[in-house]
Amino acid sequence: MALSAYLEHILKDAEELPPARPYINHAVAFKQPVTPRERAEALEKAGLNVFFYPAALINGCDLLSDSGTGAMTNEQWASLHYGDEAYGSNQGYFLLREQVRHTFGDLFFNNLTGSFNAFLFHQDRAAECALFTQIGKLGTGLIIPSNGHFDTTHANIEANGMRALNLFSPALKRKEDSSAFKGDMDTERFIQLLEESRAKVPLVYLTITNNTGGGQPVSLGNIAEVARIAHAQGIPLFLDACRFAENAWFIQQREPGYREKAIPDIVREIFSYADGFTISFKKDGLANMGGGLFLKENGLFVRKYPRMSDALTNHQILTEGNPTYGGLSGRDIMTIVEGLKTVVRQEYLDYRTSQVQAFGEHMKELGLPVLTPAGGHAVYMDMTEFFSDTRMRHEDFGGISCTALLLAAYGHRACELGDFAFGSYDTVAGKDNFPEVNFVRFAVPRLRYEREDLEAVAGAVKALYDRRDEMPPVRVTYGRDLPLRHFKARFEFID
Ligand SMILES: *Cc1c(COP(=O)(O)O)cnc(C)c1O
Repeated sequence: MALSAYLEHILKDAEELPPARPYINHAVAFKQPVTPRERAEALEKAGLNVFFYPAALINGCDLLSDSGTGAMTNEQWASLHYGDEAYGSNQGYFLLREQVRHTFGDLFFNNLTGSFNAFLFHQDRAAECALFTQIGKLGTGLIIPSNGHFDTTHANIEANGMRALNLFSPALKRKEDSSAFKGDMDTERFIQLLEESRAKVPLVYLTITNNTGGGQPVSLGNIAEVARIAHAQGIPLFLDACRFAENAWFIQQREPGYREKAIPDIVREIFSYADGFTISFKKDGLANMGGGLFLKENGLFVRKYPRMSDALTNHQILTEGNPTYGGLSGRDIMTIVEGLKTVVRQEYLDYRTSQVQAFGEHMKELGLPVLTPAGGHAVYMDMTEFFSDTRMRHEDFGGISCTALLLAAYGHRACELGDFAFGSYDTVAGKDNFPEVNFVRFAVPRLRYEREDLEAVAGAVKALYDRRDEMPPVRVTYGRDLPLRHFKARFEFID
């Protein structure tokens, strides 16, 4: 239809302006009023460990994790009502299977007449545990390379006597490097590994996006290249697909040749290279709970390890129950089906990722030492740089001090992922070991916060940064030598 010239003119202009959010607040939850003094007292009671701090007393933003913390859509809330709580073969299982096939491609399909290839779990780490328990039985001295293993993936691999090897992209370590895909695997090191130890590599993993590697995306070029190298040596490729949709968005926006492609098509192209994947539906499933393990029908993995599907089924029955509910209630499954439909919508991803990017840019403009461009789900702040012109030493755990002060004074919760979380204490030598990276992470829950919420966080961090000279170190009063110590430790400020 022909429009008036003026309308044509103004429509063009309108396209230039940033759009409003692609959703509205349909239900809201008011926060409990809490004073800074009440927060400070609660935090001291919690031994300054933000994991122990009661969430009900957070009246700022809770950016501890983006896992299972999102707000659900109307469709998801409504779908709960259709949850089928049958013990065997509940209807949600079949709907989810169809949705998985639709989202990830025809090759992922549970052939009910043969062995299972779609396994549900209550969380992804349970799927990882099932997979690596079985893989670990294949031999000794096995190595699982990755572009960056997530901490639970790492732990499940090593707990089963294998080595979890991170082949981070060299671009990740170069701070000033603005490469579009810092989450890629270093394929030179991968080739070298296969030349030396091909027989020791039962499968290779790619984490999309690369959570441990600053939440950075992985290119389709890299995914295809890793698949080509691996497949030429008879090695299956697995994806840790927790943030598959956010990763697809980065491919669409940044990788040459993908600007005109639709997100669902990019997702299917990504998964065409994989022989299987594990996923937490608490991230890009947009659900509050759920995980899964999916094997490509007639893919290299099932051909190479034909007994694996049966072994995985046995493991699952022992730990999660009937394979068709896998530790989830029927209604949880329904929310995942709906979540997978929403997460690949262009307007959802445009808003979601641009919100995180804007948060990162805003912090950078305030002079804060954050990794930019930000990844898809979080902003990472380099604490070694944060304290570089102060007396704070690594053994003072400034990241812990910073997250405690941010919560007590301003009511925002972030997560230390650095010297304390990834470091360790050698009791024999009486010595701390510190990791390569020292971050505080601000993870952004999906569909939960708005721009002004995140601006408030940035402003509070800036206020702390301006007083970084005065920030007190912390003393570890409990748990310095424990494994997974950041979940258990207690601290006090050294005044
Ligand atoms: C969260 C996460 C996992 C583990 O998922 P859970 O459902 O929390 O067990 C694995 N890999 C990555 C990359 C993740 O972000």
